[in-house]
Amino acid sequence: MEWIRFNEPYGNEDIFKKAEKMTRNHLFEPETVLEQLTKRFLSLDLYKDSGVPFFMQSGTAALEIMALAMNIQPGDEIIIPSFTYPATANAFLRVGATLVFADIEPDTCNLDPKSVERVINGRTRAIVPIHYGGVTADLHALSNLAASYGAVLLEDAAHCIGAGYEGKPLGTFGSMGALSFHSSKNITAAGWGGCLLVENEEKRNVIEEVIAQGTDRTAFREGRVNAYRWKRLGGEYTMPVHSMAYLEASLENLGLVTDRRCELWHRYHSQLHLLETEGKFALCKVPPNAQINGHIFYLLLKDQKERESLKAYLHERRIEAFTHYEPLHDTVIGESSGRYDGDMPMTMSVAGRILRLPLHMGLHERDVDQVCEGVLSFFVH
Ligand SMILES: *Cc1c(COP(=O)(O)O)cnc(C)c1O
Repeated sequence: MEWIRFNEPYGNEDIFKKAEKMTRNHLFEPETVLEQLTKRFLSLDLYKDSGVPFFMQSGTAALEIMALAMNIQPGDEIIIPSFTYPATANAFLRVGATLVFADIEPDTCNLDPKSVERVINGRTRAIVPIHYGGVTADLHALSNLAASYGAVLLEDAAHCIGAGYEGKPLGTFGSMGALSFHSSKNITAAGWGGCLLVENEEKRNVIEEVIAQGTDRTAFREGRVNAYRWKRLGGEYTMPVHSMAYLEASLENLGLVTDRRCELWHRYHSQLHLLETEGKFALCKVPPNAQINGHIFYLLLKDQKERESLKAYLHERRIEAFTHYEPLHDTVIGESSGRYDGDMPMTMSVAGRILRLPLHMGLHERDVDQVCEGVLSFFVH
């Protein structure tokens, strides 16, 4: 019997052909390819009002640029969930910020505003939620909290390509937002890729400098200054041409990919919902007005022991299922990088109970049915 794999990077013959053609024709003309990619992105219904995105080597690069643009001073604090990928933490730690880890809420595994409220203070510069699995965090509560302390909202929207809230794409609610096109995400730039979305012109100018080695080279090119100078800490983060070409061809199918992944997500949900009502496990509770992108389908089991046995049981049936993040505050580097909100009970609990099921464009309906059968038979055997 074939394995049902957890993930399969997105691509097909048509995308390979288009990407190859673009790469051959313009390998040494990055501006031409960037122009095509930008046009494609802004032609997508969801992103038409997002402003011109900055495409980068990775989602991590987008987060690092975001952090560099914040002009962090010693003592400045950044609030992040402990239940996230280390990239969120690394980006801010490397520019000297103090990390403040907040707890999550169980309905979506996203930053809990009540926990944020307990740790926020006058030194807080930003609240940085992730939107776990492309399901929106409580943006209203988090923005209000940030605003009332003179801080900003920054979004680690790495899971979010194709996802929105109240009709607007995730990644455009804060002052800056980072998307990822890593091969584990819904759409990929053939391995690694990312993009930074920026709210206003003032921030755009700062980003322009950061990505030009900290110089005002862009202003110089556009004739706004008569010589360019080194002004701040910057770097080189440009997305390579072959990645841009692959991403451009893939984004053409964003609607199709999002629809299909949501279809598979709902198929899981409808088959497993009954067990949820019987209290066997919990499923994600999607907030009203959230537009999901079917990035992750997960179960929250009763405890870690049951999670491990279900994972092993599915493995025996040649079904790959994965756990997820280790709580970052509960690590040696996390301990020494700042502070956190008490015992972080929900983070500790969710990290031990979460199990992600296979979800990708190569799955058939019968695969989803087989995974669900596996889960069902685990609970009756
Ligand atoms: C994938 C991911 C990143 C990093 O993106 P890369 O493109 O892999 O660098 C950052 N944060 C979260 C929450 C992620 O899932």
